[in-house]
Amino acid sequence: MKCKRCRGKAVVQVRQHNAAFCRGCFVFFFQRQVQRAIERERMFTLDDAVLVAVSGGKDSLALWDVLIELGYRTAGVHLALGIGGYSRRSTEKTEAFACRRGVRLISVRLDEEDAAIPTLSAFTNRPACAACGTSKRHHLDRVAFEQGFSVLATGHNLDDEAARLLGNVLHWQVQHLAKQQPVLASTHERFARKVKPLFRLSEYEAAVYAFVRGIDYIIEECPNSVGATQLVYKDVLNRLEAVMPGTKLAFVNDFLRTGRAAFATDGAGLPQTCAGCGMPTFASLCSYCSLLREVESKRARFVVPAAGTAQ
Ligand code: SF4
Ligand SMILES: [Zn+2]
Ligand SMILES: [Zn+2]
Repeated sequence: MKCKRCRGKAVVQVRQHNAAFCRGCFVFFFQRQVQRAIERERMFTLDDAVLVAVSGGKDSLALWDVLIELGYRTAGVHLALGIGGYSRRSTEKTEAFACRRGVRLISVRLDEEDAAIPTLSAFTNRPACAACGTSKRHHLDRVAFEQGFSVLATGHNLDDEAARLLGNVLHWQVQHLAKQQPVLASTHERFARKVKPLFRLSEYEAAVYAFVRGIDYIIEECPNSVGATQLVYKDVLNRLEAVMPGTKLAFVNDFLRTGRAAFATDGAGLPQTCAGCGMPTFASLCSYCSLLREVESKRARFVVPAAGTAQ
């Protein structure tokens, strides 16, 4: 097997592109794919301040590495979610990456008191991932706004996008289909533009890139991901991909090119301001502040009176 670019010995096979590369040429290929996605989809330019959401996993750290290598102005933001040892190890990997590269990392501690995901989930009876999604969206938007970043980049890869698309189609989530795209324009002065520069690169490619570049990332999955439907969708898509290489890429590309327009809407009108945190919302409180209020009120109901104060 020969490298498609330099004709040397290939060590990485990229079936969806019917190509193979040596280590150096694979790094070049991966970085060029990211750069093309950024330029073609008009995600951002070298002048923009880009906030990269980094979990400590391969995708987000690979993305940050590429953006640093390509010369973009970036800082990372990491949310310490309070999911036990998994979160602690994710934070360690992220901090070590930032330290080694000498880049700015904004760390948000959510592992104390009411903001920790297990607390949010237990007190509100919501699945951990639902509470986590609400919390992550809120804090990433908030940090981007407060720290003056116009662009928020996440490490969602092709497998994530294909699995999300499959889920949205299976349940005909038309509002979600309307919003499924690699660039989400800002709809409010407090919302950054959201971009996914890895949306055409597979999980496998991101893992190989991280390995070849010597990125030390957290390999274990979040304990709450066990049994997630997203993983079932990924498994189904992987089986299709094994028989028909390129299926995932075509599924996502063709949706963006020809399908999505059918679901596009004029938006949900003008948002108001959350009474709790000041971020945009379509209700008096944003969904994150509502979660926190619910935790507070349930906590208050369960407070045990101190000895001698009972009536
Ligand atoms: S698996 Fe669920 S709880 Fe864990 S990080 Fe992902 S969204 Fe959050
Ligand atoms: Zn080569
Ligand atoms: Zn709020």
